Amino acid sequence: MECKDKNCPIHGNLKIRGRILEGVVISDKMRNSVVVKRELLEYIPKYERYAKKSSKITAHNPPCLNAKLGDNVKIAECRPISKTKSFVVIEVI
Ligand SMILES: [Zn+2]
Repeated sequence: MECKDKNCPIHGNLKIRGRILEGVVISDKMRNSVVVKRELLEYIPKYERYAKKSSKITAHNPPCLNAKLGDNVKIAECRPISKTKSFVVIEVI
């Protein structure tokens, strides 16, 4: 499939750098963007237990990958694409 997205990490000129994270797509309603939720386990020494934490990250969704709601995806840090986007989907797992 042809991909003309200049913000695509594979076909465009977007360079990825920094962290690579995994998460689940919880919203695919925006054009070329998805919201990815990550579940984290954080150890709380005071209670000697793990607490579940989650974070939401808006990521760019290139048309050639086209991640859908519920997909497990790998996202990578890149330069800020918009005010809230500085991650891009690099793989649908
Ligand atoms: Zn592409």
